[in-house]
Amino acid sequence: MKKVSFDDLNNKVCVITGGAGVLGNVIAKGLASVGVKMAIVDINKEMADQVALEIEKESGVKCIGIEANVLDKASLKKAKEEINNKLGKINLLINGAGGNSPKATTQLEKISEENLNELEKTFYGLEMEGFTRVFDLNFIGTLLPTMVFTTDMLNDKKGAVLNISSMNAFSPLTKIPAYSAAKAAINNFTEWLAVHLSTTGIRVNAVAPGFFLTNQNRFLLIDEKTGEMTARGHKIIRNTPMEKYGEPEDLQGAVNFLLSDISSFITGIVIPVDGGFNAYSGV
Ligand code: NAD
Repeated sequence: MKKVSFDDLNNKVCVITGGAGVLGNVIAKGLASVGVKMAIVDINKEMADQVALEIEKESGVKCIGIEANVLDKASLKKAKEEINNKLGKINLLINGAGGNSPKATTQLEKISEENLNELEKTFYGLEMEGFTRVFDLNFIGTLLPTMVFTTDMLNDKKGAVLNISSMNAFSPLTKIPAYSAAKAAINNFTEWLAVHLSTTGIRVNAVAPGFFLTNQNRFLLIDEKTGEMTARGHKIIRNTPMEKYGEPEDLQGAVNFLLSDISSFITGIVIPVDGGFNAYSGV
């Protein structure tokens, strides 16, 4: 009988963009734990090197830090060359760079009679610069690395891509329209590319993390002055049936599953890892 395992991942080469981030570095550790050689690609070279070193020490698997900007094709091509030289052909890609910014966030959830004189805090006050930056980082920052880092897979007739979506992709969250639109675009692109590549041997899937307390959303969930959970933070916990935030380690199983041959007939799906948030109507 054939053993069901992650053994096929052993010795594979995986690129993870945003790999120095809070979720990215833990996802990378989960893959290294089953023998995947990791290229930690990040705009922050110092952090990428630090994470790579830590993973290599913990897992004994080769791991390198690489500097690249997911919005700059030339820097991604240079990164690919370096990865090919140091680790070999790329077999797997995780598009992990992304995030929201206060500059693309409305201060008010809704416009009402009471706040009509505060339109700068609403949709009408959003600055295009912040909006575009967040939209591009999340969407174009997935598109470009996929173009650059999957060419070895195309030659190999085998590979897997994993995008990082979000709860916003299913129903938008209040206050963060650029991030929500970009993550919805990620879901759509995951399906589109899965079909486009369906006979090439490359599978394309995504995970949609629910709520994890991390750098990019801390300002919305924890009051800076008091350190207490904000009203929004309480609302999230109330709407997460498991009544807690996720731990980055909670993503490792779904990620390894979607990248391994265990899921060889699965392409074009988005798996929520969300403590039940997406399944719950709130009633
Ligand atoms: P993070 O901010 O800790 O990590 C993001 C990483 O991306 C950082 O290391 C950063 O340096 C890097 N980065 C930023 N801009 C870049 C660029 N132009 N080029 C290359 N690298 C760049 O964020 P995180 O919380 O670990 O989130 C990782 C992914 O998960 C993101 O796509 C995010 O949208 C998504 N996500 C997070 C949550 C959450 O609760 N934190 C929920 C759902 C989805």
